[in-house]
Amino acid sequence: MTQASDPRIETLLAHGPGRDAASGGVVPPIQPSTTYFRNEDYALAADGHLYGRDDLPIPADLDALLARLEGVADAIALPSGMAAIAAVFRAVPRGATVLIQSGIYWGTTGFLRQFCPKNGLGMVEVDATDAAMLAAAIAREKPHLVFLEVPSNPWLRVADIEAAAQAARAAGALLAVDATVATPVHMKAASLGADIVVHSATKALNGHSDVLAGVVASDHVEADWWHAIRGERRQAGAMLGPFEAWLLIRGLRTLALRAERMAANAQAIAEFLAGHSKIEAVHYPGLKTHPDHALAISQMTGGFGGLLSFQIRGDAAATLAVAGRLELITRATSLGGVESLIEHRQSVEPPETGMPENLLRLSVGIEHVDDLIADLNNAFAAI
Ligand SMILES: *Cc1c(COP(=O)(O)O)cnc(C)c1O
Repeated sequence: MTQASDPRIETLLAHGPGRDAASGGVVPPIQPSTTYFRNEDYALAADGHLYGRDDLPIPADLDALLARLEGVADAIALPSGMAAIAAVFRAVPRGATVLIQSGIYWGTTGFLRQFCPKNGLGMVEVDATDAAMLAAAIAREKPHLVFLEVPSNPWLRVADIEAAAQAARAAGALLAVDATVATPVHMKAASLGADIVVHSATKALNGHSDVLAGVVASDHVEADWWHAIRGERRQAGAMLGPFEAWLLIRGLRTLALRAERMAANAQAIAEFLAGHSKIEAVHYPGLKTHPDHALAISQMTGGFGGLLSFQIRGDAAATLAVAGRLELITRATSLGGVESLIEHRQSVEPPETGMPENLLRLSVGIEHVDDLIADLNNAFAAI
């Protein structure tokens, strides 16, 4: 049996950072003050707060909660997922090489293609879906940092984190994993060997499409690079605001339930799509036919997340016609919210990514799954 002092993830999340001793409130207060007064003797109040960028009370509680969720020693909340990813790469020394998984979230790839050359970093993009090929690339390039996205967005490929961690360790490289699509409910990237875990908390962690936030987490609290990443907030000013932090804490309280429902809905929808005559391909690691299904089972627990992509039998016009016919599922970017969202990725990515014209990415929410399937089925009548 687990000790009360070592609660499971559902319990941690439901309780959040806990009660407010000062007021007796069962939820934490919001402290919007950017500065803190001194008394006649020029002393600060007992808990020593000085200035907002140094230590707002809510983000401190939030950091501790995020670290426990990830099962690591430390975590910091940042103002967006991209701020979290930028923090990781800004800590890489000039002249080093970074190895990036290809076919991942375009925001990350597009940013790094600009950032790396400007900051004296060699950037190598590799297909990380073949563990042996990835290990060979790590041994060959001797990168400072390897960056994976597991599962990847929008292709839902699942890289082998344990194999990548082993190869990275042998080459003296750090392994960073963007685990946004999985969430800590379904996958603990650090326990699989990742040195750094990042999340866009804008997605399922907050879950209500109303906060931009990001997370970087690690066990290497003594490392210089961890101090550099932490410094992104206090020194370089990437502070999450108190209102956003408070909303994120509230959203996190239901994460376990939401993730469970989203994954169950996504599994049912993927199976429905896989058997539909108007669908050419479905990309979801929970399907037995997915090339990484066995690996996904070994790395993930309780489901495979709420994101899937599918390709319809038809061209861009037919694909947009299907999206246009949907009544419940909202046409919008982003993922991980309680409401289902659909996006035609080719419309928002530059031509060089080669995104197929017939691909739709579906972020499955917590609605009744029968309503979502009926909405999709009705939309397929458009073609
Ligand atoms: C959305 C997303 C990001 C970027 O996060 P923001 O909060 O939008 O800055 C990074 N990685 C993945 C996998 C994402 O889906």
